[in-house]
This record gives sequence, structure tokens and C-alpha cells, in this order.
Amino acid sequence: MCASRLCQGTLISHSRTLVGGRDLLYCGRLIRIWLGRLDDDELHLEHSLGYYFTPLSLLAAPGSSMIRIILLDLDDVLNTLAPCVLNAVGCPVAPDHYGGYPGEFGYAVQDVANHMLGSKYTRDSFWLKISQHTWATVPKSDFCDWLIEASRLKVGEENVYIATKPTNEPLCAAGKMEWIRECCPPWLHRQFFITPCKHLLARTDALLIDDHPENIRQFRSRGGHAILVPRPWNALNECDPKTHINVSLTEHFDDDPYDRGTKV
Ligand SMILES: [Mg+2]
Repeated sequence: MCASRLCQGTLISHSRTLVGGRDLLYCGRLIRIWLGRLDDDELHLEHSLGYYFTPLSLLAAPGSSMIRIILLDLDDVLNTLAPCVLNAVGCPVAPDHYGGYPGEFGYAVQDVANHMLGSKYTRDSFWLKISQHTWATVPKSDFCDWLIEASRLKVGEENVYIATKPTNEPLCAAGKMEWIRECCPPWLHRQFFITPCKHLLARTDALLIDDHPENIRQFRSRGGHAILVPRPWNALNECDPKTHINVSLTEHFDDDPYDRGTKV
């Protein structure tokens, strides 16, 4: 592996401290210790001594673009909200499957329900129909557990958060808290933001994973990183969600040793 490839986006600093006559180099979210040499500012990595955990706070300087925090959207990312609420009001769709969702309605779920049922829901009247129990029991997406674990491996469990937007109905927020408690690992139970203002969480070292294009746009416009999750209402609707997220994570965490199954 050439030095420039290894160092792209992950080399934090190097020291000219000599170890056995060679330079000691520090790379990565883990500390990776290399033996190498520095000739006229050109880096030559020769031998890896292995990976070591280190607090991310030691690695990411203020203003760094290195991703330290991952924010996971809940609705239609960790769970299957849209088909679930359509099912809850009587639409003939399975609560955990997007196959019957007509993408031409965008994310206007009340319009999908009106199309299927001949009803006259407004946005507010539709979401008022959704009970706390429904919010609390939305099925997990088929990649929920994988995504939480993949995020933990990328940035450490203390840096993974859920970011989810509530409706105007207070029972919605209560149901989301129940969902997090029932469906997420214990370490994630107190790491969430229930807010209609996700964009205020944007920072240069944060990555948002979300299905809503406007959330992605606002987050990026404020300097954050973002991955759009394919769903019927967005431009990636032809893509497999898990495959797309996996590829995108690899791109955002270039040369992450976890992806290669390297021992730590
Ligand atoms: Mg969502």
C-alpha cells in the first residue's frame, strides 16, 4: 500500500521520534504504529506494528474534517415507519416492506393513504391517528442492527447517536423513546436527539445517515457529512439500502482497518 493512499484523510500527525533509527508514525482512528522513514518530506511506510485503541478526542483537532460522530436517523432508517403507519390506518401494505409504496407521492404519507383508501387526511390529521403504541412498535429495518454495529465500529459507541424528528403529538416522542429502549443496545439508550432541527447538529466531524434529502442538504450546507439512505421517495430508490450505506461508509472512512477485519 502506498503512503499517500494510507495517509489520505487519516494521517493525523507524525513524529520524527526515532525508533531503531526509523520514524514513528501515528495514523487512523485507532492509533496505527508504523515503522518508516521521512526523506525530504516524503513519507515511506515500511512495516506496520499493529493497531491500538485511543480516544478519538486525542486525534481530531478542532476544525478537523475527520468524522468522529455518527448520527443515525430513526424513521425509515433504523425502522420501517412509512409502511408501518400506512398499515396502521388500514392501507393494504405490510408494515415492514416498501414494495407497495408509490414513490410519486414523495414522503407525503397522508397522500399515499388518501390514494389507497380514498380518505381525506391532512398531514396533521394523519399523524394524529398514530398512537404511542404504534410509534413504539415500528418494525426494525432489516439492516438496523448491522448499521448500529457498523457505526459503533467506526467511531466508538460513545460517539453514535440517534437523531429523529417528532411530530407535533407529544406521544410520538414518548413512543420513540420506548422504541429506542426496546430495539437498541443498552449503550445507545441515552444517546439520542428528538428534534425537528437536526441541521443544528451539523459539524465538520459529524456524519448524518438519513433518508430525507432535505435533511441531507441542510446538514451538508452547514459543513457536516451525510449519507442518503435509499427509499422510494428519494433519488436512490433503485438502490439496495444496506449495500449503498456500506459502500458510502467505506468511502467516508477511507482505509479504516475495521473494514479489513484487521486484529486490534
Ligand atoms: Mg427518516
